[in-house]
Amino acid sequence: MPGKGRASTAPGGLRWFGAAAGAIIGVVEVPAPSTLAGTSRRLDLGDSGAFAGSVVVRTTAEAVIVGAGIMGCAIAHALAERGLTDVVVLERDAIGRGATADAAGGIRQQFSTETNVRLATYSVRVWETFAERFGVDIGLRQQGYLFLLTDPAEEPVFRRNLALQQGLGVPARWVTPAEIAELNPFIELDDVLGGTFCPEDGWADTSAATMGFAQAARRLGVAIEEETPVTGIGVEAGRVWGVSTPRGEIAAPTVILCAGPQTRQVGAMAGVDLPIDPYRRMSFITEPFDRLPPSLPMTIEFTTGLYVHPESRGFLFGMANRAEPSTFDKTVDEGWMLTTVEALVARVPAFEEASVMRGWAGFYEITPDDNPLLGDVGEPAGLLVAAGFSGHGFMQGPAIGTCIAELICDGAAKTVDIAPFRPTRFAEGALAQEHNVI
Ligand SMILES: Cc1cc2nc3c(=O)[nH]c(=O)nc-3n(C[C@H](O)[C@H](O)[C@H](O)COP(=O)(O)OP(=O)(O)OC[C@H]3O[C@@H](n4cnc5c(N)ncnc54)[C@H](O)[C@@H]3O)c2cc1C
Repeated sequence: MPGKGRASTAPGGLRWFGAAAGAIIGVVEVPAPSTLAGTSRRLDLGDSGAFAGSVVVRTTAEAVIVGAGIMGCAIAHALAERGLTDVVVLERDAIGRGATADAAGGIRQQFSTETNVRLATYSVRVWETFAERFGVDIGLRQQGYLFLLTDPAEEPVFRRNLALQQGLGVPARWVTPAEIAELNPFIELDDVLGGTFCPEDGWADTSAATMGFAQAARRLGVAIEEETPVTGIGVEAGRVWGVSTPRGEIAAPTVILCAGPQTRQVGAMAGVDLPIDPYRRMSFITEPFDRLPPSLPMTIEFTTGLYVHPESRGFLFGMANRAEPSTFDKTVDEGWMLTTVEALVARVPAFEEASVMRGWAGFYEITPDDNPLLGDVGEPAGLLVAAGFSGHGFMQGPAIGTCIAELICDGAAKTVDIAPFRPTRFAEGALAQEHNVI
């Protein structure tokens, strides 16, 4: 097991292995565009067909999608399902290896804005039927999300949000400390005032879900090209005409930016400034740990953002370092790991006996109001974006795919009104702040 070798004891008692940060992290190495330019190596295109050269498979398409994370793949599939199959997804690395690979897999409906609740609710229905529809087991575990509140100022806010969620059909409820103890008997409750719980919430395997969408899109005729970074976006007379890559150009009247934390940089290729910045977030997973049952819910201390849920035979946990400025540094900060471990042991003392097996860092793609940019950017025409999910993108993938496909094919999103998340809202001063960000 990588990183196992030197055992230490973190303040608070939880043992962890691998003192050097480099020994415990999983860093995704992304090939720089210059290493791809002009090469003729064979690319692994999975089940997309028998491509054997260094040029792109198609030089024209109805739509090009930049990025094959959960969003790019879900949108590609939704477009193809509506008959728009002349679609090319370009991915600089491999399918699902961006922020989607780093996510904790959490799926919840407990949001503060109607748009997010509706996006989440629609998505949950898709996640519940994913195996039947896509033939892929995403390991969905609907064991609930349990929010713990310790700040009295949060109670009225959460009660208001709860009324919104319940009004939209979400089976979330207020829970007293005694009820919290029934849901998770291992929590230190001294400072807990109450909380909220939704039994339909849970978590799933982000890689399986992304591959499920990707494979289904390919079966319908979509081309997904890996190791193919978009290096330029062509704009003429106020319209996009396509994209360039080290393997050639693709002309397309519609280009959809789904580049996750890198979307600001990709948007700049078309002269557009999209306010999406990367913020490092770390997750850790324990060694197999049977002192706590695997049936526990996702448990979140809202004020600090500490979260923990059962994963495989151990537990996955993390906590946001909200003081850290935007960065593309993907190493694990060992100091923050110790802070997180301390917080975890303080909230769930049983973890004193656990060991950390592995840790990794990824990026939240944060916007000024913690909500995504969805739809036409305005100028240039033909350029759309679906990015900036501010840490809650995986769970919304199904709904975003459907809504963006409706926007492109029918002129408007009907499944959920995504207008509040239009990219132009920042210039208009019409922010749509999400409160429930972890
Ligand atoms: C530690 C952590 C925990 C998280 N936990 C959760 C959670 O519990 N639940 C949840 O819903 N969300 C969670 N998230 C957030 C979630 O991971 C993201 O919101 C979501 O995965 C975004 O998907 P995406 O497709 O927009 O981006 P990505 O998955 O990053 O996909 C974008 C793709 O674009 C590619 N790309 C970038 N530039 C280019 C280019 N120039 N050319 C071609 N391709 C390019 C990238 O390689 C990448 O594959 C978490 C994130 C982190 C970091």
